[in-house]
Amino acid sequence: RNTQRFSTAAVIEEPITPPVQINCTQLLINGQFVDSASGKTFPTLDPRTGEVIAHVAEGDAEDINRAVSAARKAFDEGPWPRMTAYDRARILLRFADLVEKHSDELAALETWNNGKPYEQAAKSELPLFIRLFHYYAGWADKIHGLTVPADGPYHVQTLHEPIGVAGQIIPWNFPLVMFAWKVGPALACGNTIVLKTAEQTPLTALYVAKLFHEAGLPPGVLNIVSGFGPTAGAALASHMDVDKLAFTGSTDTGKIVLELAARSNLKPVTLELGGKSPFIVCEDADVDKAAELAHFALFFNQGQCCCAGSRTFVHERVYDEFLEKAKARAMRRVVGDPFKKGVEQGPQIDSEQFEKVLSYIKYGIESNAKLECGGGRLGSKGFYIQPTVFSNVQDDMLIAKDEIFGPVQSILKFKDLDEVIKRANATRYGLAAGVFTKNINTANTMSRALRAGTVWINCFDVFDAAIPFGGYKMSGIGREKGIYSLHNYLQVKAVITPLKNPAWL
Ligand code: NAD
Repeated sequence: RNTQRFSTAAVIEEPITPPVQINCTQLLINGQFVDSASGKTFPTLDPRTGEVIAHVAEGDAEDINRAVSAARKAFDEGPWPRMTAYDRARILLRFADLVEKHSDELAALETWNNGKPYEQAAKSELPLFIRLFHYYAGWADKIHGLTVPADGPYHVQTLHEPIGVAGQIIPWNFPLVMFAWKVGPALACGNTIVLKTAEQTPLTALYVAKLFHEAGLPPGVLNIVSGFGPTAGAALASHMDVDKLAFTGSTDTGKIVLELAARSNLKPVTLELGGKSPFIVCEDADVDKAAELAHFALFFNQGQCCCAGSRTFVHERVYDEFLEKAKARAMRRVVGDPFKKGVEQGPQIDSEQFEKVLSYIKYGIESNAKLECGGGRLGSKGFYIQPTVFSNVQDDMLIAKDEIFGPVQSILKFKDLDEVIKRANATRYGLAAGVFTKNINTANTMSRALRAGTVWINCFDVFDAAIPFGGYKMSGIGREKGIYSLHNYLQVKAVITPLKNPAWL
């Protein structure tokens, strides 16, 4: 294992100084940056070193109360739901322009706080963030109800109204992109928001929220509370004055917030949760291309993707060739300081995830999966893990059942399509699936048979503002992005008026 040559160590040992300053570390409530009610702060870390980047105000239940009051007042009395939809759209567009202007700093801050490659943040995540706000700005003035035919002499119309105060809880793996998926549609529909960021990555949301106010967002419309799940997050999920909850994170926490929402005021909940997505390489596949795409499907973002293709099923006829190529590709993966050009993989987010991934590698070895490469840490500080490939993985092994959320590829062998469909679907999750084939019949059969919210055929991780995303089974409830997300943030009101009303005569 130690004979592998990763192009890494030097840059890991001497981290590059990030080209950005940290200005926003307080909570954002009612358009003002404020300290937490308790005065407490918590450290936020650089995953490259484990060292403190900044101390951030730590919100808890009392701060959630303050933020919800501000959002409530902004919804009940403020201009946001009352202004024309076009005016709302223009603020969203101005905000997107400001983000574009500050893209380099934002990408640097995202990398510093999260560990993802700077090039990925700058070239793919910031553009997607901006695109999402353009997309939802475009929807703002196209949201309207219907005229409905009735059986009697009535004029019936539906009004599509904002739902009110939206509580939003996001994870750390794509801090900015998750912000955009949640905030874009909620604001386009005229709602107000209290957003709780993940405790690992509070910085970029505060930065963009400042830009939002520069763009003309009225105070109280978007409130940001940094803090921990069981305190701030639970207070938001159970708040009586929050009208809707949107959550992205693990399935276990999803169950907790759903219960909190039910036990408080029955607020509707959308959940984007975990996954154990199959990536299926059929016998007709071009093996070079399949190995490259399967590698990307798993290792992208340090393997920290809810939809990672974390069960690589390979047809027995191409299995041996695929395995050699998958292993060679993993060993060529450039791991290092995420600020360095050409680096494909940075550190895992924190020590907890780092230890969790290493313990799954240990389970893999103990359960007699074959460790083909990797298997350990890289460097002596921070949370870097070697790109790891297991072959001979069996369906009942823990590494084939649980979400590892790290750079660990599990390769499984299959004989025919019926078998692989059954095995691919034999999971409690249903977030995504990938299929690699040249056969259109196979592609059509698989895309209909796989029980997952997204099926990528001969591609993977294609995210577009308009394409809905969400899970079957325990991967979630509801869809985000596209037109589907608007329904999460609207109430439908039916208004019925008699066409002939004696009271008017
Ligand atoms: P997590 O569930 O621990 O945390 C997610 C968020 O929930 C954080 O903001 C956290 O503070 C908050 N939280 C934690 N406990 C809470 C509680 N008791 N009440 C209210 N809020 C609470 O998940 P994580 O480890 O931060 O993220 C990784 C997980 O998220 C993975 O399982 C991954 O699959 C999932 N994820 C899913 C999607 C998707 O779109 N489906 C996207 C990204 C991540």
